[in-house]
Amino acid sequence: MKGRLEIIIGPMYSGKTEELIRRIIRRRIAKQEGLVFKPVIDTRDKSLVKSRAGTVIEAIPISQISDILKYIEKGKVNFISIDEIQFFSETIYDILENVLNKNIDVLSSGLNLDFKGEPFKSVEDLVIRADDITLLKAVCVVCGKDATRTQRLVLKNGNWLPASKRDDVILIDGSIESVKYEPRCRDCWEILD
Ligand code: ADP
Ligand code: MG
Ligand code: ZN
Repeated sequence: MKGRLEIIIGPMYSGKTEELIRRIIRRRIAKQEGLVFKPVIDTRDKSLVKSRAGTVIEAIPISQISDILKYIEKGKVNFISIDEIQFFSETIYDILENVLNKNIDVLSSGLNLDFKGEPFKSVEDLVIRADDITLLKAVCVVCGKDATRTQRLVLKNGNWLPASKRDDVILIDGSIESVKYEPRCRDCWEILD
């Protein structure tokens, strides 16, 4: 038998990490053995996966997706979980296929779109091959409708303005005081040229 590939996508604040943790806890109740990974690039709380709703689970920080292979060789594992997959390289599925072929389920989650409204290659790579896809929505902070997008705002002369298409894609939330993110619907989401 082969493992199953699940992916949870959505904008920031949509509950991806919360849902991932919920699925991990359910599997632990079912006495399954699992390993929880997170990209080391996400410098918030190094060895914890933490949801904004307050739930927390211990995780192994890894710098490349291939690092998971040495951990799963060490013992019996029924599933692995990986949060924030948008931070990994583009060819993430090749590695995860090795894991699935060992009858290990893969639970993954990541951002659907970057702040420019473009897909992340690694997320796309999994979405099109997944056995199960969950799209979560946040609440648009402007109008209250379902939010499927992540707005980046930049502080300029005391005002929070929409980011520009020319800005770098990866900027960790909270790492720079003059940049912040919020969930928005398609109508309220903005990008400057
Ligand atoms: P993600 O991993 O998708 O960024 P989290 O699982 O960390 O999301 O956090 C989801 C939680 O964030 C929600 O359960 C809720 O408590 C909180 N939250 C704060 N602001 C919002 C918002 N605008 N829309 C939805 N949830 C929000
Ligand atoms: Mg998260
Ligand atoms: Zn809106």
